[in-house]
Amino acid sequence: MSLVIYNTLTRQKEVFKPLEEGKVKMYVCGPTVYNYIHIGNARPAIVFDTIRRYLEYRGYDVNFISNFTDVDDKLIRTAKELGTDVPTVAERFINSYHEDVCALGVQEADYHPRVTETMPEIIDFISKLVEKGYGYEAKGDVYFKTRAFDGYGKLSHQSIDDLRSGARIEVGDIKKDPLDFALWKSAKEGEISWESPWGKGRPGWHIECSAMAKKYLGDSIDIHGGGQDLTFPHHENEIAQSEALNEAPMAKYWMHNGYININNEKMSKSLGNFVLVHDMIKEFDPQVIRFFMMAVHYRNPINFSNELLQSAEVSLNRIRTAYGNLKHRLEVSADLASDAEQWNEKIEQFKQSFITEMDDDFNTANAIAVLFDMAREANVYLQSENTSTAVLAKFIGLFEELAGVLGLTLTEEKELLDEDIEALIEERNNARRECNFARADEIRDQLRDLNIVLEDTPQGVRWKRQ
Ligand SMILES: [Zn+2]
Repeated sequence: MSLVIYNTLTRQKEVFKPLEEGKVKMYVCGPTVYNYIHIGNARPAIVFDTIRRYLEYRGYDVNFISNFTDVDDKLIRTAKELGTDVPTVAERFINSYHEDVCALGVQEADYHPRVTETMPEIIDFISKLVEKGYGYEAKGDVYFKTRAFDGYGKLSHQSIDDLRSGARIEVGDIKKDPLDFALWKSAKEGEISWESPWGKGRPGWHIECSAMAKKYLGDSIDIHGGGQDLTFPHHENEIAQSEALNEAPMAKYWMHNGYININNEKMSKSLGNFVLVHDMIKEFDPQVIRFFMMAVHYRNPINFSNELLQSAEVSLNRIRTAYGNLKHRLEVSADLASDAEQWNEKIEQFKQSFITEMDDDFNTANAIAVLFDMAREANVYLQSENTSTAVLAKFIGLFEELAGVLGLTLTEEKELLDEDIEALIEERNNARRECNFARADEIRDQLRDLNIVLEDTPQGVRWKRQ
């Protein structure tokens, strides 16, 4: 059994064989920190966190690097709008990025390098490209000479001539070829800037990832990841820069996650359908958002809507309830079973099925289906009065193990206290008095999902924990 990964570079699934046995060097393009992240940014964060967790689960020692673009046009514009400076904007949104993705169960990278702290390496990278004839200076800017790099277009599977006919020189452009791209941009008056051999300025976007991957992981890495929209031009340009300088393949496996649509529409500023994670996690359990994303294979597009999120919550609760019932039984019952061996084997098979699915290009959708099967079997097991504590513990242990690989916890974020329950019941009574039965039912369902059963009696509502 071996892990296979779909490689955008070769357009096929390949057996995963890292450059160095047992170790994985992984770089994932991070956000430009000028705003809160939207749900589209959350997807690569969750996808590559899951991939990293699974690689670690399979015994690999993973070195995971993900950058912050902490200076660019958007940051400069935002700083101006807010009447502050670029480092203040960056600091603020780096902090909120950490908060938002942490809520979604995303682990911190081994390191999150920033552009502003990688300046010497970036300038050195550009200087060497110019020396080797891959870059040229024009009025304080430096451009990459795309034509000089053999193999431009190999990641996005486009020929340089096709690309060239689709590109055009804009009025005022000072580059020699429409496909050439900026390595260094000269500073406008009053803009944040750094000294360089070409005068004051700042790096282009693509060069930062090439320089950071080299600095923190070396000339060749195992996995380079990002959203599908980064394939061209960003990753194509990273390959051109890195391979021109290092004369070695930049990454063995290029992985890209699919798009997110909102209510079947493309998410865009102009449509006004940007969903910020910061807002969404106030409304929905972040674990449900993560579960929702993982119920779709990472390369497939996701359609996002509140209704779909609600149905994901119902699904996740099915697994949570089975898990909660197992734990409850383990707490209250004695060791009574006779056919423990048969069940232990059955449980072991769930683990193998989960690994088989995840080994197939991290098929989280099918891995979650295995968790549902397991929940169903657990419910069957719990119907018997004679349960073995060893089997219960094995079920519980495997649920925790596999959910952990997906970054999920199966217990509710907070235990409901008795007074919280009383307050919800009071709210339900009021809703019924006001004939708001939808809200009343919602509260009853909410409590039921938490294993609280309501009983309407002539003396009023009674409740108990199941
Ligand atoms: Zn990048």
